[in-house]
Amino acid sequence: MTGLIDALRAFEGEAAGPAFTMPDPVNQVMIRHWVEAMGDENPVYVDAGAARAEGFDGIVAPPTMLQAWVMRGYRATVEAEAARAPGAPARFAQDKVFALLDEAGFTSVVATNCDQEYRRPLVLGDRLTAASVLESVSPEKHTALGDGHFVTTRTDFTDEAGSPVATMRFRILRFRPRAAAADETAGAATPEDRRPPPRPRPAITQDNAFFFEGLAAGRLLIQRCASCGVLRHPPRPACARCRSFEWDTVEASGRGTVFSYVVVHHPQVAPFDYPLPIAVVELEEGTRLVADLVGVDPAAVHIGMPVALEVVAVDDELTLAMFRPVHGTRGEP
Ligand code: ZN
Repeated sequence: MTGLIDALRAFEGEAAGPAFTMPDPVNQVMIRHWVEAMGDENPVYVDAGAARAEGFDGIVAPPTMLQAWVMRGYRATVEAEAARAPGAPARFAQDKVFALLDEAGFTSVVATNCDQEYRRPLVLGDRLTAASVLESVSPEKHTALGDGHFVTTRTDFTDEAGSPVATMRFRILRFRPRAAAADETAGAATPEDRRPPPRPRPAITQDNAFFFEGLAAGRLLIQRCASCGVLRHPPRPACARCRSFEWDTVEASGRGTVFSYVVVHHPQVAPFDYPLPIAVVELEEGTRLVADLVGVDPAAVHIGMPVALEVVAVDDELTLAMFRPVHGTRGEP
């Protein structure tokens, strides 16, 4: 892959995108909304007297607000994308590098880290310009996600006098997804490598252990308040009706109806099959739980559909409650 890395590195130091001057100067309105949203109560961002008492000349902007000043907004970003002629050659280094990585199979992206350096506090009235360069492309690295290249862009923020005020480095990993890599090298891969990852594990606590232990024994146990008798699910320490911490369980019959449902198409996660119907099942005992539906055409799932429990051992360690339509009922294929 020496050819690829040399081609990628040829773009190091080139402009990663167009320089951009912020539409509004640093201002109190945006600062006030930002600190309110963040819950940041430092008075130097909103009170000139407090800022002077801390040695500033007046109100300063929160340093970590840096990127907020140069964001164009959603609509403008979408329109800028749409304005690019389809098939037009990439103008900037970042697009050129991504195109090369795409061709080489490094199609997936995950942001890995963002470092910001602040040269001076931003003050009301500052108007910044941001210019980005493609700073570096790493050699191919082996990561938990797959093999890929780290691409670092550096954005230099300058004030109206052209003096640098801040720098941001944004690093992403462009990687070849594991599954695709396994397909390509199917002949060489061991069965171990090609096995899909297991289902996510539930977090078992002292409050919900009974539920999973019950399923492992083929029983659907529902928590019941020992003081007032109300059923509750998912398991939790106290009764919402009477606040009692005393509880026992009842074994559900497993009969219920679909109270609500979704059919998941995207995003697709390796251990699951798609389209994936997931229902809120109302048990005949009166409480509800979320579960996968099995043995059903996803298009035939409907609210009110009668279902019955199917305890499924999805692997050696995990047994889950799923539900299957009851045959001979409305809508059942
Ligand atoms: Zn109770």
